[in-house]
Amino acid sequence: MSFYWSEAGTLPAAKTERLGPLMACMAGTNSATPHCTALTGVVGQQVQCIVYDQRPSPCREVEPGDDKCIRARARHGLAPLAVATT
Ligand code: SF4
Repeated sequence: MSFYWSEAGTLPAAKTERLGPLMACMAGTNSATPHCTALTGVVGQQVQCIVYDQRPSPCREVEPGDDKCIRARARHGLAPLAVATT
């Protein structure tokens, strides 16, 4: 889940990782078992993004119950969210 380095400008430096001259990712996500260091709490119980207002575009594109959400939850053994449609 990479993004242009310029998006990292508002994020704490320790919460991002440079991937080259133009790209960055959230620290902890460039791994075989990704876990963003900005995510606090216990997955499956209660979590919080501590940079929610500054989160980069790939994070903003994920919607509850969409394909990316389903895949991320499945990696932690969680069922898809039951999303209400109106
Ligand atoms: S939404 Fe927040 S906790 Fe989740 S990956 Fe993005 S920055 Fe990390």
